Amino acid sequence: MVVKVGVLSLQGDFAKHHRILEVLGMEPVNVRYPRQLDGVEGLIIPGGESTTMTKLIRRNHFFEPLIEFGKSNPVMGTCAGLILMATEVPDARVNPLGLLDITVERNAYGRQVHSFTDALKVSVNQHHTRIPATFIRAPKITALGDGVRVVAVYRDEPVAVQQDKHIGLAFHPELDDVPFFHNILFGSQTNTLIQDQPDRIHAA
Ligand code: GLN
Repeated sequence: MVVKVGVLSLQGDFAKHHRILEVLGMEPVNVRYPRQLDGVEGLIIPGGESTTMTKLIRRNHFFEPLIEFGKSNPVMGTCAGLILMATEVPDARVNPLGLLDITVERNAYGRQVHSFTDALKVSVNQHHTRIPATFIRAPKITALGDGVRVVAVYRDEPVAVQQDKHIGLAFHPELDDVPFFHNILFGSQTNTLIQDQPDRIHAA
């Protein structure tokens, strides 16, 4: 059976995730209304503008359904998606979902470095790889709760984190055709994050 993965399609670069999911043999589904969550097994919250997405999440009555969905399904957030998955965002215009026990500061890389790509070493349980990572007005993870694992570090700062079945990335794997995270979260060995983690300390 083909795995159907939702891509929250309210705003931002949701379409870019389709290709990666298709290459991995999965079916991408644009999710614009809460009822569409019933038909998917995982969800991507894409990059974009977290303040705008907050407004649209409110307008489409998505807040509670997204939290509920995350209790039993894997969610991946990239950039603005990471911001929305956080527990704390010191910006009143953003209403985060609390799927990852982290504090995230928006646009933390300063004006001069709006955007850059660099190599990143990533380790998720037994899976290790080296990938290009593109950061665009990227957020910074400034605090981590106990159950959160750091999956990648850039210049001593955590830029990819995992908690329970969820993953949050400060960068954009969909812009560099990096299928690694999509595969681990939603792929054939669905959610290897959990299966490979006998020493998991956090159970949400
Ligand atoms: N700066 C954006 C925000 O705060 C995130 C940028 C991105 O998703 N590339 O929402």
